[in-house]
Amino acid sequence: MANDLEKLSSAETLRKTRTFGKVRCHNPSCMERMEPSPGAAHIKCATCGMEYRIYWVRGDLPRIRGPVWEVNRKIAAEALSRKLATSKSKSQAKEGTKDGVR
Ligand SMILES: [Zn+2]
Repeated sequence: MANDLEKLSSAETLRKTRTFGKVRCHNPSCMERMEPSPGAAHIKCATCGMEYRIYWVRGDLPRIRGPVWEVNRKIAAEALSRKLATSKSKSQAKEGTKDGVR
């Protein structure tokens, strides 16, 4: 009886690990494996911060439907604005020199 119980619990444990599939982050420079919570409509990559929309092929088989554009654009925009901010301060310095020459 105790043996049966043990068998059952180890089978249960195995099933638990198999229950929910993983998806891979679509960010080519990340490719992190993510494990969406059951029924979740979105998942956020813990590594790069990108968010994806999830659909469930089966109750235990998630797929990435596509990125959440508002979030991923924001991340891209933030990266771009950081880039622009550094180049802007450079060009402002250039303009300052130009003015001084004039
Ligand atoms: Zn990622």
